[in-house]
Amino acid sequence: MDLGHLDRRSFLRGAALVTGVGAAGLLLPGTAGAATAPRIYSCAEWGARSPADPLVTLDHKADRILIHHIASANSTDYSLAHAFQVARDDQADHIDNNGWSDTGQHFTVSRGGYRLEGRHGSLDGLKSGTRMIRGAHCPGQNDNAIGIENEGLYSTVEPPAAQWNSLVVFCAYACRQYGIDVAEIKGHRDFYNTECPGERLYAKLPQLRKEVAAALKS
Ligand SMILES: [Zn+2]
Repeated sequence: MDLGHLDRRSFLRGAALVTGVGAAGLLLPGTAGAATAPRIYSCAEWGARSPADPLVTLDHKADRILIHHIASANSTDYSLAHAFQVARDDQADHIDNNGWSDTGQHFTVSRGGYRLEGRHGSLDGLKSGTRMIRGAHCPGQNDNAIGIENEGLYSTVEPPAAQWNSLVVFCAYACRQYGIDVAEIKGHRDFYNTECPGERLYAKLPQLRKEVAAALKS
């Protein structure tokens, strides 16, 4: 299980040591070494199926992060094995039921705080800081916004602490890699007629921007 605060502290400590800091004290995008990158489980690690169709690599950075919830059960199984199963179920749903090429979103955060690659190639794109894979998580935003699905349903409850802390770590890393402004961390509903990412998680997005901004300055 991902250790929320501990994880964040060690990530930030590593970032402070290795990441370049500009004259204005801002972290420079794309300068993180592999040692500072948070743990993100790849498609190969969680046992993804091959995409049903070829995917599109875009030779530009992402300029936004869109927060989603899967609207799945609020499981109390916080294990890595469960996180892998969530990723496999989500991929199967998107390919078999939605008819999509692969998992719609770029990344997933489990309720236990595990971060997983969604669509194939998303992790390599994020590591590069210069490329992204075309997603299928929000019409009109798939060529520029990184989609993050959070396991669970957050219409009436908030995400558990482990998931929240992991999401902060992920967003800080993605903002740093692509040079995304924290103001561009948005909810799915900001760009589409949907309740996603749930009333309670959506209400926490100002706090998310604030915590990510603090993480980037640490
Ligand atoms: Zn959504």
